[in-house]
Order: sequence, then C-alpha cells, then structure tokens
Amino acid sequence: MHPITEAIRIQTERTNEMEHSTPMFLTSSFCFDNAEEMRAAFADETDDNIYSRFSNPTVQEFIDKICALEGAEDGYATASGMSAVFASFMTFLKKGDHLISCNAVFGSTHTIITKYLPKWGIEYSYVPPNDQKAWESAIRPNTKMIYLETPTNPGLDLVDLEFIGKLARKHPIILNVDNCFATPVCQTPIEFGADLVLHSATKWIDGQGRVLGGVIVGKKELIHDIYLFCRSSGPALSPFNAWVLSKSLETLDVRMERHASNALYIAQKLEGNPKISWLKYPFLPSHPQHSIAIKQMKNGGGIICFELKGGLESGRKFLDNLKILSLTANLGDTRSIASHPASTTHAKLTEAERLAVNITPGLIRISVGLEHRDDILGDILQTLEKC
Ligand SMILES: *Cc1c(COP(=O)(O)O)cnc(C)c1O
Repeated sequence: MHPITEAIRIQTERTNEMEHSTPMFLTSSFCFDNAEEMRAAFADETDDNIYSRFSNPTVQEFIDKICALEGAEDGYATASGMSAVFASFMTFLKKGDHLISCNAVFGSTHTIITKYLPKWGIEYSYVPPNDQKAWESAIRPNTKMIYLETPTNPGLDLVDLEFIGKLARKHPIILNVDNCFATPVCQTPIEFGADLVLHSATKWIDGQGRVLGGVIVGKKELIHDIYLFCRSSGPALSPFNAWVLSKSLETLDVRMERHASNALYIAQKLEGNPKISWLKYPFLPSHPQHSIAIKQMKNGGGIICFELKGGLESGRKFLDNLKILSLTANLGDTRSIASHPASTTHAKLTEAERLAVNITPGLIRISVGLEHRDDILGDILQTLEKC
C-alpha cells in the first residue's frame, strides 16, 4: 500500500460493536485476567498495554500512521510539539555533549537550546541554515546531535537535507529534524538520512486548530530510548487528542495539496507588489534555495512570508485592516492566519537580536488556509493598500 493509503486504513482493532470509524480508548489503565499475564506484561515479555503513560491503542494508531507516512520504524507520541523536542534532547544529550542546530528554530525550541541546555552543561552551536562550510566546521569530537527545521520559521529558509544527511553519516551523530512546516506528505527527511523526525501535530497534522500534540519517529533502537525516557517523565499524548489527530491524517495529503496550491497562487500574485520589498515561497523560482526546495519537497507548503516596505508601523496596519484572515498565534489551520513577528512573538527581543534571527521589522507570515484563494488574496491586497 502507498503511505497515504496506510494513513487512511491503519486502524486499532474494532470492538465487538464492529464500528467503522476508529474506536477511542479513553482509559488510563488496562486490565489483566490473572497474575501471570500481569507479571509477563510488566516484565516486557508481552506487548500488552499496561498504563496510558506507556502505551494506548488509540495513540498507537496515530503513531503507526505517522511511521507509514515518514517511512519510519517506530515512534512515540507526546502531548505537544515542544514535549517531543524536549524528549528528543533529554534522551540523548548529557553534560559535556554538544548540539549543532540551525539558528532559525521555533521560539520555544530556541529557549530550550539557549537557556536550559547550557544549565545542564550541554554546549550548542548555531549555524545559518544554508552555509555548508559552517555546518562542517561546527562539528566537534563531542557533537552528539544535529537539529534542524526546514523550511525555517518564519523566514522560510531551507536546509539541504541531502548534504546534512551525508555530513551526519560521516560521524556518530544523531540527525534530528523538526518536519512540522513541511509535513510528511511533502517531505520525508528519513530518506535523506535523518535518524529522528519530530512534529508539532498541533499545526498541519491536526489542520483545524483543535488540539495540541506531538510525535517523534525514527530508528527502532533510538525510539526505544525515547520511550523509556517518556514512560518515566510523562509527556504522553491524550488518547482523545490522538483520536482527533489520527482522523486528521486521513485527509492530510488532500489538505496539503490545496494549502500549497493556494499558497503558490497567492505568492505569484503578490510578488512584485509595490508595498512589498521581498517575498519568499519555496516553490517560486525567485526563492534563493529554489533548487533545494524542488529536490526535497513535493510542494512548497502552506506558508508565505514577505517584508513590508513600511517596516514596523506597516506591519501593525497590515494586521489591523484584515477582514478575513485571523490574528492568532497558530499556523496550519483551514483558516488563513497572518502574523507580524516583530510586534508579537519576537517583540521582547531587541531589534539587533531580531535581525540576528532574520526577523525584519516589516516581516509578515501568512499561513494559507483552505478558503477560496481569491478571498484570501483579496483580503491581503486590500490591507496592503492601507500599509
Ligand atoms: C508550533 C511548533 C513547535 C511546538 O509545537 P507545540 O505543539 O506548540 O508545542 C515546534 N516546532 C515548530 C516548527 C512549530 O511550528
């Protein structure tokens, strides 16, 4: 079967009611018939479910579908994207180890890397996404993990997965990729050599802004270590959220096709607009790393970013005059969302700190939804006139 078929057909065993839609196991623990069965489960001699912090059939259905889509051997699902990021660091990094990360990462990931890892004696180096020499020269004898996002948030820069995969293979380094922005129907980092792939399932995977969730997939032995860490530390995904997310995976491929075709159309129409100094979308030939985009992505994804000529003040006007697009912190929803990082998510940084992570004063990020493409475009054009 093709992975997108598996994402639709993989299902937890039906109950005696023979329901067609997938059952939901909202239970914290599981029963045993006798002392011997219970002993064997606790001794890891059987695969029986014991307690939902360890495993749960509904959560397992979601994991199995993501594994099929990513081409991964095994996985563990977490309560949020951040708990997936945190567990992937905490399981493998110890005092004296070194992490290399691309310098443009999700805000809370940046906080973990720069504030918490050093507190525990873990060193890090930040590298620009597309500077191959910098990636090579950042490697030290104690480098344990390479971590990256591609495309990056919010700047949509790309990391060349083929290059990084080969680089990581030359050393005993775990390559860990946050694949949230692209989704597994658009980009599968394992085929380029990633050992671990993680997601904030809160975004495109849910796709409708309802629940938080996360997942880490990859090599069986690495996932086993993550499982042992999470089984003890407790970031388990709720079976209710897993049920929502598993149903969402049945439509991920068709949703992402439309998000991406809407985004490409809008990007083409906005490029060259007199109020905009530059615009980035991975599948536009004008994107600085367009050749990398077409090598590793099936489409350009659902995010567009551009810079308003009028800077910070225009950014606020852009948000204030929108009539359809939502002002909200999320992305990857059926509903289009606009954000202005300099006055919101990154407002606490100084201008110099913002520029260091490519947050320019007039930067606007659009998460393109599933509304009619001309309605989304029309709303953006009318607010641009007032900027
Ligand atoms: C949102 C996001 C996260 C964090 O996920 P949560 O589900 O909000 O915890 C991590 N990485 C990326 C790229 C994200 O967009």
